[in-house]
Amino acid sequence: MGFLKNLFGGGSAKPEKRYYVFNVKCNRCGEIIEGRVDLDNDLSLEFEDNHSVYFVRKGLMGDSGRCFQQIEVEMKFTSTRELIEQKTTGGTFAE
Ligand SMILES: [Zn+2]
Repeated sequence: MGFLKNLFGGGSAKPEKRYYVFNVKCNRCGEIIEGRVDLDNDLSLEFEDNHSVYFVRKGLMGDSGRCFQQIEVEMKFTSTRELIEQKTTGGTFAE
């Protein structure tokens, strides 16, 4: 019966939080735009000094239909998916 336990997640090391969710505020119109990073699929591996980091770049745009400011977001995560660096152009990070 061991496979049943595996099937239902017993002992899985996978982090349960798959998405990193953040908000950016558009510099032009002030709209708060929600973005999310799929920690399983969006990250690409890069090497920095002697360790590996995960890097993601996102382009976001508000859905008000009135503002077409493109907001670029770049983030870096450790191999355990912890955020270590983030920057954005066209907007600012918001709560
Ligand atoms: Zn805007």
